[in-house]
Formats: sequence, structure tokens, C-alpha cells
Amino acid sequence: MRGIVGGRGLGRVLVGCSFVSYLAEGLDGSAPPRPALEDKIPELKRARQGARERLADPQCLAVLKDFENVNGGRLDQVLRASGRTAQEQLDLLVLESGLGRPLCDRRVSLAFTQVHSRVVSICLRPFTLLRRQEQQAVLIHEMLHSLGLGENPPESTAITEQVLKRCAH
Ligand SMILES: [Zn+2]
Repeated sequence: MRGIVGGRGLGRVLVGCSFVSYLAEGLDGSAPPRPALEDKIPELKRARQGARERLADPQCLAVLKDFENVNGGRLDQVLRASGRTAQEQLDLLVLESGLGRPLCDRRVSLAFTQVHSRVVSICLRPFTLLRRQEQQAVLIHEMLHSLGLGENPPESTAITEQVLKRCAH
């Protein structure tokens, strides 16, 4: 599966990570001060911890070989070049509430971010209704975007399904 090909401008395209995916624009990429969202929502904290544990498994880690970033670099190689582990990349994500944001309010997204962004907006209501392994898969999906994975192609659902295939067992 390939990421979006080419284009520097694509880095600013918002990716809605959902069961029905579409693109929108208009989020500025500035990182807010690290929110205490995970302290308020223990389920989110558990999801990140669970995702972290999954990424310790080489079978799960192999999902990085399944995708490329917007410049055509395989994500496992992109990560290696960064000098970080997948767990450290996951730790970098800043999770914020997407409540009140159109992508959440239209009830089609579970989370959204921008390619190469560490700031991830979580649509809390639908997210908390997911099974635990699906929550973890959504966070790993977002971590892949932080490494430069685009969307459409591959479809949002295809990304999450591949993460589940590799990581949920
Ligand atoms: Zn996505």
C-alpha cells in the first residue's frame, strides 16, 4: 500500500481518520501546550499505553513496512532515520479533544491530524465507544501519519484495517 505520492503542499492536508474518510483543510499546525486530556480521560491513557505495548511486538511493528510516506520512503526506514523507536514516536503524539470540530461533529471521524503533525485531535465520543484494540489501532494509525503517511490513498479504513491485521492478536 502506498502513501500519497509527491507534493510538498500535501503536508498541510488534513487527514480525517475514520470509517468514512474525506479531506478538509484549515487547521493550523501550531502545537498547543501539552493538554492534560489523558489525565481527564483514563481510557485515552490506557489506549496509548496499549498501543505502546503492541508496538513492542515485531509482528505489529511490521505495519511500518506496509506503508510509505508522501515522498515514497518506507515508514520503517523513515523511523530508523529519525533515531526513534516506534514507541518513542507514539509518545510524541499530543492528543487533544476534537470536540466541536467539524470532522468530529459530522460523526464520520474518530480522529484527525495533518501529515507529519504530532498533534492529533480525537473525536472522544465515538473513540470511547470503540473496542480497546480498535482504539489502539487508531492511535497507531495516527502515529503513521506523524511519520508522513498520507491518506486517500490509502483509504483511512484500509490503514486501520492493516494495523488491526498486524497488531490485534
Ligand atoms: Zn488517517
